[in-house]
Amino acid sequence: MQEVAPAGVLDLGPGYIEPALLPVPLLKEAYGQALAEYGAAALGYGHDPGAQPLRALLAARAAAADGYPCDAEQVLLTSGTSQALYLLATSLAAPGDTVLAEELCYDLGRQIFRDCRLRLGTVGTDDSGMLPEALDRTLTRAAAAGERTAFIYLTPTHHNPTGRTMPPERRHALLEVAARHDVLIVEDDAYAELSLSEGRTPPPSLAALAGYRGVVRLCSFSKTLGPGLRLGWLLTDRALAGRLASHGLFVSGGSLNHTTSLAVSTLLASGAYDRHLTAFRAALRARRDALVGTLRATAGDRVELRTPQGGFFLWLRFQDGADEPGLLDRAAGAGVRIAAGSRFGTSRGTVVRLAYSFNPPALLEQAAQRLTTAWAGSAPAPEIGVRS
Ligand SMILES: *Cc1c(COP(=O)(O)O)cnc(C)c1O
Repeated sequence: MQEVAPAGVLDLGPGYIEPALLPVPLLKEAYGQALAEYGAAALGYGHDPGAQPLRALLAARAAAADGYPCDAEQVLLTSGTSQALYLLATSLAAPGDTVLAEELCYDLGRQIFRDCRLRLGTVGTDDSGMLPEALDRTLTRAAAAGERTAFIYLTPTHHNPTGRTMPPERRHALLEVAARHDVLIVEDDAYAELSLSEGRTPPPSLAALAGYRGVVRLCSFSKTLGPGLRLGWLLTDRALAGRLASHGLFVSGGSLNHTTSLAVSTLLASGAYDRHLTAFRAALRARRDALVGTLRATAGDRVELRTPQGGFFLWLRFQDGADEPGLLDRAAGAGVRIAAGSRFGTSRGTVVRLAYSFNPPALLEQAAQRLTTAWAGSAPAPEIGVRS
């Protein structure tokens, strides 16, 4: 395992799925069915862009969710969003190019860009996400200085770490700015299918709103079925999907994850994936409510909570002057691991991230109680607020 907390420690740090929620029997059946259905073809080299049955199912799924047509030729299977980011950072950017990201964003995405010797620029944000005027200014300044901006990296839906979702008007405004400057948007959509508000779905993806032109949308089964599968997909226009699939990486080895792709395609085809998602969302909702409810109850007036509408994370904002290492130390002393806000980039004020995906409700309640007690003794008294 990549990371295991010591016994007795409640780990609200990483955005992992709680082991008991990982669908082991479902996958056992799926691999069996794929091998029965496809025989030796399931163990051969796969088609370069990925197994056709899964690509067709994923395209139909995107079209149904977003209300914009999408076909299998626009889908490239990846071995997860991390691999897709590496692919884009090496094939669409050259060392020295700039990637523009939100002030706060997925820290390991940042690491991938740095590894590829790309420069990281940040663009200001508010509660709705990246600011179009700030993006416009940054792109204008970069062009005047002769700097090449390879792409803009964004997580518009159930953002990691803040939990916020970008409203439709903001999506349109950002697309307009990026198109005017002719700069590609990379939309990291790892949590798109994890909306936790009943009856409410997030706005259509940036990719769909743009008619799949000028946007690459990255999706993954890591946050819905299990990260060990190392299976994801990207959606974009046919020409770019084809160009990416023509890289030696795919031509030499074929699809990056052929056998697993066929196994997962049986789950999508049978409806088992949707049934799993419904149960998984209910489990996540119970965990979110346990954490938020207990923090609200135990921290009293000092807590102003905004409940995340989806994803894995609660973002806690403290009053100015609160000291981040101190908050983390006191949490660790009480046996709770949390993530430092500064890990995700620059933020105004002091913030920490709590994942509610990795522990059952009873342990999340315990963690919330431990945190309130640990932080109550601190000076200045923490005034906890949550931004969505
Ligand atoms: C978890 C996460 C990823 C990692 O995706 P993999 O498919 O496991 O590589 C990427 N982006 C964001 C925003 C995430 O939260």
